[in-house]
Amino acid sequence: SEELLKEEVTEIMDEFTTLGSYYQLVDKIGEGTFSSVYKAVDVRHEYYDNSNWDLSTICNDYERINLDQSSSSFMTLKRIYVTSSPERITSEIEILHQLSGSECVVPLITAFRQMDQVMVVLPYLPHDDFRAFYRSMEMDDIRCYFRCLFTALKHVHKNRILHRDIKPGNFLFNYKYRTGMLVDFGLAQVVLKSRQSNVPLSLMNEKENMRSSHFKEPQPAPVGYYKNDSRNPVRANRAGTRGFRAPEVLLRVVHQTVAIDVWAVGVILISILTARFPFFQSEDDADALIEIATIFGLKEMKECASLHNRTFHTNVTTIPKTRLSFIKLCMALNKQKAEAWGEQNVRDAVDLLEKCLVLDCSRRISAEEALDHPFFHPSAH
Ligand code: ADP
Ligand code: MG
Repeated sequence: SEELLKEEVTEIMDEFTTLGSYYQLVDKIGEGTFSSVYKAVDVRHEYYDNSNWDLSTICNDYERINLDQSSSSFMTLKRIYVTSSPERITSEIEILHQLSGSECVVPLITAFRQMDQVMVVLPYLPHDDFRAFYRSMEMDDIRCYFRCLFTALKHVHKNRILHRDIKPGNFLFNYKYRTGMLVDFGLAQVVLKSRQSNVPLSLMNEKENMRSSHFKEPQPAPVGYYKNDSRNPVRANRAGTRGFRAPEVLLRVVHQTVAIDVWAVGVILISILTARFPFFQSEDDADALIEIATIFGLKEMKECASLHNRTFHTNVTTIPKTRLSFIKLCMALNKQKAEAWGEQNVRDAVDLLEKCLVLDCSRRISAEEALDHPFFHPSAH
């Protein structure tokens, strides 16, 4: 793979003829649908003024660099693929630029474009994989994690921006230093002003509905699905990652608010409190609603659906009538940890959790309010 990395780096350096005089790529740290992410050194930095170093020397010297140098001299280069629309790329960079300097949000250093190739330059943030620490966090670690995350979101939301993809992979947390930063504004959007938040289904996206209405083969409905569904599908932005989508996103509500980010924070919190990650995992929106219903019960799901002019029907018999208790859920799934955290801590954390995972998005806590929650002020007890 070192060979492959070298090849890839050579290819990129050939494409970005100007890049080499600023940055030398040393490692690949991520690859997604829309981007590849590399670790790089700033070659203008005095220490790296070793123009005779080739990539292999740097790779071999990786350990030494790590020991000798503070991590701040490393950069992250995010190469956004050409398959992304130019609007999407521009939006990611503009939003990063607008938010730059906000606490707990990754600052934008610069960006390069050559022809259709775009490279975003960010500082390298040493962080730990969520899977490596989510089961061993102490209460103070949890507090730091969510204080950083809510601080980031407070700034993002104040700027009238929706992140839309809050999840552990996009919040880089350094376990040892207990600090975290929000990254990846690839799906972020400016919050649209609500003109019609509760329009009846039939009035929504008329054109879209007409275009997508087509003959459906009669098929036996799988368990839990509405039989002979002849209604037209509703199109709404449902970007994000499975398991983290808020109920209003799953219900295809057209006007979405910053509350969808807070729901996703709640999903991370429930993962930590119950030691289950991922907590929700269904691939499909209808199944995801069933998963949520299993926690909140049929009564509240039906109420939530009707808030958005939707109906919630199911023949899944295991869904309870009323909601499960989050405290009992934590005790049942993560008893040892819950006891070690202490009763008051768990009660505060669960209270915050209940305020994030509110089905009705208009009643969900805001990031700013969350920071004032007693969970973050334990000495006040
Ligand atoms: P994508 O749109 O492909 O998900 P991200 O911006 O989320 O792109 O980056 C993908 C991964 O790269 C992240 O999950 C993280 O592991 C790593 N990464 C991104 N930005 C940084 C950074 N500034 N410092 C260190 N690692 C980063
Ligand atoms: Mg990402």
